[in-house]
Amino acid sequence: MPSRRRSELTPVGYHDLLRDLRHPGCPACRAADRAARKRIDSILWEYVNDPDVRGALVTSHGFCARHARVALEVAREQAAGLGMAIIYEHLLRHCRAHVERYRDEGTRGGWLSRPGDPADILDVGDCPACQAARFVAESYLDVAADSAPDSEVTEALARDGRGFCLPHLVLGLSRASERERVERLARIFLDTSERLESELRTYIDKHDYRRVDEPKGSESDSWVRALGWIVGFEALGSRWVR
Ligand SMILES: [Zn+2]
Ligand SMILES: [Zn+2]
Repeated sequence: MPSRRRSELTPVGYHDLLRDLRHPGCPACRAADRAARKRIDSILWEYVNDPDVRGALVTSHGFCARHARVALEVAREQAAGLGMAIIYEHLLRHCRAHVERYRDEGTRGGWLSRPGDPADILDVGDCPACQAARFVAESYLDVAADSAPDSEVTEALARDGRGFCLPHLVLGLSRASERERVERLARIFLDTSERLESELRTYIDKHDYRRVDEPKGSESDSWVRALGWIVGFEALGSRWVR
C-alpha cells in the first residue's frame, strides 16, 4: 500500500472534535472534562496503589480544586469511596508533614522567621486529571489551528455558539508558532465573542420596561454562557460539558 503524505493523514482528535462540535459551547472543554473523568475513574479503580500514580498525586497534593469536584462526582457515581479514602489518607499525612516542617523551621529560637511563603504549601501545579485534560485539549486546538478555511472543522467551529473558551484559546495561542495559526484561533474566539455580546445587549435591552412583555429568546441564558466563555465551561460544572 503506498504511504500517504503527512498532510493527507487525518490528525489525532479530528473526528472527536467534529463530534463535540455537534454541541454548543467549547469542544475542548467537553473533551477535557471527559478525559479528566476517565483518568479519575481509572485512578480510583485500577491505579490506587500504583507507585507512579501515587507519586504524581503526592506531587500535586491530589486533585486540583476543579478536578476534586469532578472526582467527587465520579466517586459517588462509581461507588469509589474506598479508592478516594486510601489516596487521601496518604495525602493528608503528606500535607501534615509540610505544615509541621513549616512550623518547626519558622519558630526555632522563639522568633518567627518565615522559612518561605506559606502559599508554597499549596502551590503544587497540575493534577493528573489536569494533564489528561490538557493533552486532549491541545490536540483539538492543534487541529483547529491547522484547519483550512473550507474544512469541515472550520465550518463547524463557525456555527453559532461554537468556539474555544478563553482559557483554551490561550492554551492554543501558546502552542501556535505561525501567524496563520494565531489568526485562525483568534478569529474563532472573536466571532463567538461578538455574537454573544450582541445576545447580552438584547438580554439587557429586554429588561427595559417598554420591552418586558416581549418573548424571550436564545439570549435568556447568555449571561451564563458568557461566564463559560471566559472561565471555561469545564469550570461551570458537568451540565455545561456533558
Ligand atoms: Zn474550553
Ligand atoms: Zn486538575
